[in-house]
Amino acid sequence: MTKSFEITINKTAHSRQKEAFSKELVFGRVFSDHMFIADFIDGEWTNISVEPYAKISLDPSCLVFHYGQAIFEGMKAYKGPNQEPLLFRPADNIKRFNKSAERMCMPRVPEELFMDGLKALIELDQDWIPSAEGHSLYIRPFMIATDEYLGVKASDKYRFIIITSPVAAYYKDPVKVKVETYYTRAAEGGTGFAKSAGNYAQSLQPAKEAYKQGYDQLLWTDAKEHKFIEESGTMNVMFVLKNKKIVTPKLSTTILNGVTRNSVIQLAEKMDYEVDQKKLAVSEIIDHIKNDNLLEAFGTGTAATIAPISLIAHDGIDYELPNTDKESFSVKCLSLLDQIRRGQTLDEFNWVVKI
Ligand SMILES: *Cc1c(COP(=O)(O)O)cnc(C)c1O
Repeated sequence: MTKSFEITINKTAHSRQKEAFSKELVFGRVFSDHMFIADFIDGEWTNISVEPYAKISLDPSCLVFHYGQAIFEGMKAYKGPNQEPLLFRPADNIKRFNKSAERMCMPRVPEELFMDGLKALIELDQDWIPSAEGHSLYIRPFMIATDEYLGVKASDKYRFIIITSPVAAYYKDPVKVKVETYYTRAAEGGTGFAKSAGNYAQSLQPAKEAYKQGYDQLLWTDAKEHKFIEESGTMNVMFVLKNKKIVTPKLSTTILNGVTRNSVIQLAEKMDYEVDQKKLAVSEIIDHIKNDNLLEAFGTGTAATIAPISLIAHDGIDYELPNTDKESFSVKCLSLLDQIRRGQTLDEFNWVVKI
């Protein structure tokens, strides 16, 4: 049974859009005019509204500040050929959000509430979707525990919010990654597959240490033996080999099920690549590098889409990877994915949702 939800819409009297677009857009610093809010109280979703973007007021005792019951999502909206707002695979983000919610002992956000809120917000703020090449509107849904209580327990009250931020093209130099063999991002039975705030908090110090050593990011390995590759920073990771082969760690409870990862795998198969999702040993990748069999390595995620890796450090040795060019898989795949998301080519997987 699907329930329909009433959304109250309170528009801002003063749009900040023109002023914001007159300056250079920096990732995650500028927010559009409105936000979507819903509260979960006494087992029901209530106070459902689109409001002018503003500070929120919370009691200092709210559970989220102390025990970290907080989850989020990241997705993007684009302008189509007729300036219509397009969302990329939103249903996948909603499903993943609810998996994260379950793991963190939080209520699910009903899919229709999530989708209706998202559509109402994006429709109202559609002028905030930049149409320049590579630009998009980053969408950040999140949920926090709002019980005013210091005991350790799952909260009874929650707030679900969606904010959006216009972003410019994400041009970045290829990254140098260090295979991390001491710290861990996620252990079996833990929360690695969930997009929970705490996963990020605990990854900051290891990343900072790698940065001090001259690397941009970590290549996380399994918590038990540090022998198997898991993710790169906050992205999934893929390796392109000779003879149209791609290897990537297979999903597990310690790996985030990326929407970009899944999209790249489907496009790769369409482009006649054989994609092997496996428990991927670090030694296997090092052997491929030594045998000149590794052509490309890259991270996948919504923010950067595809982030090329230029160097992998393991056991004190820096291994340089070959340069990519316009014939490289990652370059071609990125361009195809971008065209699909902007409605510029056939969307044969039905990934794009028009608003
Ligand atoms: C969000 C995230 C990703 C990428 O997921 P996308 O759906 O592709 O954006 C990968 N790894 C981690 C740890 C993440 O949090």
